[in-house]
Amino acid sequence: MSGVRVVLLGPPGSGKGTQAKLLQEKFTACQISTGDILRKAVNEQTPLGKQAADYIQRGELVPDNLIVKLVAERLKEPDCEKGFILDGFPRTISQARSLEEILTRMGLVLKCVLSMQVPRKSIVERLSGRRTCKGCGALYHLVFDPPKAAGICNRCGGELFQRDDDREETITNRLNVYDSQTAPLENFYRDRGLLKEIDGVGKVEEIGRRIIQAVGVVAA
Ligand code: AMP
Repeated sequence: MSGVRVVLLGPPGSGKGTQAKLLQEKFTACQISTGDILRKAVNEQTPLGKQAADYIQRGELVPDNLIVKLVAERLKEPDCEKGFILDGFPRTISQARSLEEILTRMGLVLKCVLSMQVPRKSIVERLSGRRTCKGCGALYHLVFDPPKAAGICNRCGGELFQRDDDREETITNRLNVYDSQTAPLENFYRDRGLLKEIDGVGKVEEIGRRIIQAVGVVAA
């Protein structure tokens, strides 16, 4: 297995999903978004989806054991051989330790961890205006990146919807969960010399360039 192997770290609404999609194209790696995988499982009412639904709805983390199993299996799939971008995983120190074990077993190491830095005020603004395409998963923002026709995806014509957990009451909980359980990962990865802080404010393409530059240095 070769290619770029990175983790995107950052609070909800910091642009991880958008940037992971750009990185995926740039480095022909596969994007692994645990949030997307879980939402699909919830929609399809699979056993995993049924176990995860309530946690997601409340803005809490799904138990580590469920997530770790899911990621371990996903990383073994052939499309990950060209590299991967983890978006939304790990989210706890325990998940980060499990990831190290999984990668060690596979004979791999992470190249870097990109930590998106965005002020709290912008995060709430971004999340409450975020809309997602039901068809292709493309992301929009009602003010900063609106679709050409209201409620319709530019790319596939699919219907745009607001995620349940992007409503204001759940946003606060998700941000608290991030501060208490996920933010400590910054030090975890800083100690390992893997952390790269990325200024996550600005135009999508501008942030993308910063990321590509940061990854490029270690991807060569
Ligand atoms: P996201 O799309 O990354 O914001 O994730 C949406 C929701 O899925 C989160 O609020 C959690 O409930 C759940 N989730 C996603 N990734 C993880 C993870 N690595 N660990 C635990 N829960 C997760």
